[in-house]
Amino acid sequence: MSDDDRIDPSAPPSGAGCVECLATGGWWFHLRRCARCGHIGCCDSSPSQHATHHARATGHSVIRSFEPGEDWFYDYQTETGFEGPELASPQHHPLDQPTPGPRGKVPENWENLLN
Ligand SMILES: [Zn+2]
Ligand SMILES: [Zn+2]
Repeated sequence: MSDDDRIDPSAPPSGAGCVECLATGGWWFHLRRCARCGHIGCCDSSPSQHATHHARATGHSVIRSFEPGEDWFYDYQTETGFEGPELASPQHHPLDQPTPGPRGKVPENWENLLN
């Protein structure tokens, strides 16, 4: 645990995709990682916005991008982005996982369904 109690760098990601979307057959646009517990959720452009729901439900206010090449952090409480510590690997979803994802669950008109 770091001295920043919003962030636990030792918590690994919960998996390769949004926990709730995978459980319900949903799909996502981009993925966000809870910096406190590692929960992977979908972004606010996605139909279900599970990352934001997780933050509200748990009080875990900081997310980090789970997209390849992105390492920004964001705090829902202060509504600011910032640079944070190195988190436990993997740093992003598998490179062979499509965006949007997951494979086979994305409707053809997905662009019209973004928030
Ligand atoms: Zn989701
Ligand atoms: Zn969390």
